[in-house]
Amino acid sequence: MRACPPLPRALPTPLGPVKVRRTPDLKTSAGDACCGICHWDEGLIEISADLEDGQAWATLFHEYTHMLLFNAGLNVTLGPTVQESVCDVIGTGMAHLVVQRTLTRPAPR
Ligand SMILES: [Zn+2]
Repeated sequence: MRACPPLPRALPTPLGPVKVRRTPDLKTSAGDACCGICHWDEGLIEISADLEDGQAWATLFHEYTHMLLFNAGLNVTLGPTVQESVCDVIGTGMAHLVVQRTLTRPAPR
């Protein structure tokens, strides 16, 4: 099985780049262990350094979707339950493209 590429250190958004950081023993502000955190106001996404590569990519795209929803002003409109579902679906789907190398393989002829 081929290894996933490493996570990028930054990602572009329509409102500017966001930094991506792997953090050991990542916790929420309440002290609970978590996989990822989207810091909208800082332009930063933190991903737990303890995740395996596929899960790290899924978490990155999950948090990136949170950032895009925030930038679009939809984070409040959607409500937390719908927003988490949207981020899970997009995060998992986009990570699947990375894990399967769909985005980096040449198109079939
Ligand atoms: Zn979330």
